[in-house]
Amino acid sequence: MRREEMVRRIRERAKRNEPWDIAVIGGGATGVGVAVDAAARGLDVVLVEAHGFGKGTSSRSTKLVHGGVRYLEQGNIPLVLSALKERGLLRQNAPHLVHDLAFVVPNYSWWEAPFYGIGLKLYDLLAGKYGFGTSKLLTKEETLERLPALEPEELRGGVVYYDGQFDDARLLIHLAMTAADHGGTVVNYCPATGLLRDTEGYVNGLTARDEETGEELTIAARIVVNATGVFTDSVRRMADPAAETLVVTSQGIHLVFNRSFLKGDTALMVPRTSDGRVLFVIPWHGHAVAGTTDTPVDAPSLEPRPLDEEIEFILETAGRYLSRPPSRADVLAVYVGLRPLVKGDGKTSALSRDHVIHLDTSGLLTITGGKWTTYRHMAEDCVDHAITLGRLRDETCATKNLKIHGYREPVAHENADEHFEVYGSDAEAIRTLTRDPAFAAQLNPELPYIAAEVVWAARAEMARTVEDVLARHTRALFLNAKAAKAMAEPVAKLLAAELGRDEAWAVAQVKEFCTLADQYMV
Ligand SMILES: Cc1cc2nc3c(=O)[nH]c(=O)nc-3n(C[C@H](O)[C@H](O)[C@H](O)COP(=O)(O)OP(=O)(O)OC[C@H]3O[C@@H](n4cnc5c(N)ncnc54)[C@H](O)[C@@H]3O)c2cc1C
Repeated sequence: MRREEMVRRIRERAKRNEPWDIAVIGGGATGVGVAVDAAARGLDVVLVEAHGFGKGTSSRSTKLVHGGVRYLEQGNIPLVLSALKERGLLRQNAPHLVHDLAFVVPNYSWWEAPFYGIGLKLYDLLAGKYGFGTSKLLTKEETLERLPALEPEELRGGVVYYDGQFDDARLLIHLAMTAADHGGTVVNYCPATGLLRDTEGYVNGLTARDEETGEELTIAARIVVNATGVFTDSVRRMADPAAETLVVTSQGIHLVFNRSFLKGDTALMVPRTSDGRVLFVIPWHGHAVAGTTDTPVDAPSLEPRPLDEEIEFILETAGRYLSRPPSRADVLAVYVGLRPLVKGDGKTSALSRDHVIHLDTSGLLTITGGKWTTYRHMAEDCVDHAITLGRLRDETCATKNLKIHGYREPVAHENADEHFEVYGSDAEAIRTLTRDPAFAAQLNPELPYIAAEVVWAARAEMARTVEDVLARHTRALFLNAKAAKAMAEPVAKLLAAELGRDEAWAVAQVKEFCTLADQYMV
């Protein structure tokens, strides 16, 4: 993917006065999913993202590809069924990024084993042919064998079940590359600034600004899809300032610790916290991630902040189950995501996680809600609607068996270079870069990332800023904010050389990133 080429295509098309079939606003899981679906059907699709791909919620999830045990408890069987099927399809189409993970629900009371045992059997059953592994009851010894860091006092046993895990931002980047591989045009740092209307008042395109040059771009399109997550209503109000609120926001935080807090390869699932939710502590990229919370938020922001009580809640809840309770001093990073929830009357934790497709009277098509896991199904639904509304060529959806960029059969674990696994088939190209010894250098002793990954991100993945590289193209900021801060200077130098930027740019980038990284520390 080359950004200059993407912008050139938009400019050329405007000159020819030729509308795109579909223009998508928003480069998170939802929008990029729509771009992949449309491109794979052979439609002309363009996507604009205001910041780096995945800057919003889609890089800030719990990293689970799951049916949602919690939704099973809420009785939302259709959502669980659809998510379990999507979980299976995602592992099939991106095996380099999605893998099985065993979860243990520890039992400290006599009733928990039969209660959770039966519930998780139902979860297995609903997965059908898309199953990941069979749940089973564990003795106390088996439970501790899988989760040696668990508090043994009063432990009676546990239940093990299986779900999927992934690297959300990496999948997003590979989806953007998949869209591009199929002829789609995707541009980052290009916010939609307004909507165009035809003589009858219907939305027939948008204006966008190239943040790197200040150039105003005009994008005529048969259908405009609004996929801006928690920013959904602000885009809807570009068409109709009086549009009623569709999306409410709730935030969830995660704390990241050293892996020693969760020894072994199994995740811990606490099925009922004091606020009636679930809490996960999962192994991820050599660290342990604990989350999450559900706190209503008045107004969406790009960099939401964790509340002190949210941090305390996670420390306290995780501490009750771990033999070595973590403290604030052990937190290597804290990250916060905002849920776009479709408005209802109840508590945010009770609002549906189903997706919604909404058509405004202006003809603007909005897709929101849902989960990362179900992005493909959401996209299929949205493009089906877009084809009808925009009278587009009626091609059937092609993503059920579409291999995602980087697709590679999983390498047997003992031979795998875990760190490079997430790049899938691109790993070879990155390794080739390390023939230049300058690119083989590790950027910080605390994290495995090397200079070649920065160069690759700039050359092939449209990374434009230090934040892109450290937050999403690698996950340094999410794993260890202090180490990420220390990496900012070498990353800025490498990027400046790749992107043809001067020293002043690199200095400004380092300053900006360090201010951001401070917000990821507690
Ligand atoms: C704490 C938390 C944990 C979660 N964990 C999981 C999980 O483990 N598994 C799971 O399946 N799901 C999970 N989810 C849900 C999942 O992350 C979200 O459903 C999904 O990421 C939403 O994606 P999106 O594309 O709709 O929104 P976003 O990712 O927020 O994307 C919207 C994009 O629109 C862009 N934008 C806004 N305005 C404009 C504009 N004017 N022009 C151009 N671009 C614009 C933004 O910059 C942003 O990048 C979790 C959610 C949260 C909050």
